[in-house]
Amino acid sequence: MVLERLRRTTPTKDPKKIPDGLWLKCPGCAKTVFKRLVEERLDTCPECNHHFKMPSRRRVISLIDEGTWTEWDADLTSGDPLGFVDGKSYPERIAQQQAKTGMKDAVVTGTGKLAGHAVGLGVMEFDFNGGSMGSVVGEKLTRMIEKSTASRMPAIILSASGGARMQEGAISLMQMTKTSAALARHAEKRLPYISILTNPTMAGVMASYASLGDIIIAEPKALIGFTGARVIQETIKQELPEGFQTSEFLFKHGQLDLIVPRQEMKTELARIIGYLMGKPN
Ligand SMILES: [Zn+2]
Repeated sequence: MVLERLRRTTPTKDPKKIPDGLWLKCPGCAKTVFKRLVEERLDTCPECNHHFKMPSRRRVISLIDEGTWTEWDADLTSGDPLGFVDGKSYPERIAQQQAKTGMKDAVVTGTGKLAGHAVGLGVMEFDFNGGSMGSVVGEKLTRMIEKSTASRMPAIILSASGGARMQEGAISLMQMTKTSAALARHAEKRLPYISILTNPTMAGVMASYASLGDIIIAEPKALIGFTGARVIQETIKQELPEGFQTSEFLFKHGQLDLIVPRQEMKTELARIIGYLMGKPN
């Protein structure tokens, strides 16, 4: 069922991800693998289980029961509060990202059933300007959390982000507190929030909602951290340990609850939500 629905989604044209054509080279094992097989395995390598980047819309299909998804705030778009220009103007950059992804900004939010449980879900889109968090991402996620609180649903956020969006300056940074405050109100009502970290989850996103989950789950071998390893190494003038800022390293040091392969994510989420919320109505 899920496979059929996934096949209907348009594959990405980004050459760094899964290119058009029948075959692709896996960055995990360097083998040439059949693209169709990768897609059927939820964008993972059949040889080494490398997790390719997965577009947000395919993520929603992989997690939400068919015919139950309602998207929220799909048309929310960013202003240009600073008149920011870096090579091109911010509105031009946004328009370019919108044309590339068919999305208005770097997150999709909504509600649907996950194995029968009603949930609020936000999925970040790394392809949209590096999944950067500006006012739209912050506002959409905050609204999703608030609606989840009002409807007494678990909130789930799947992160894939380089961090805050520099083109919106301090307004981007304000989204860290806004989303965190909404999550605190959600917690006061004793409702669960599950954070899923995918490759990469960095900087202002990791320093706010991504690290605030009651349960924090990561996909295998994801890059997760605040500042890039090179900057840290140059600052502290010390060699960093092997595998620093990977899911496996963070799990070993108690910063994650679970590492879950993508193929098992929906089943695992259903198990956790069932445990926390009881049987679905
Ligand atoms: Zn591979």
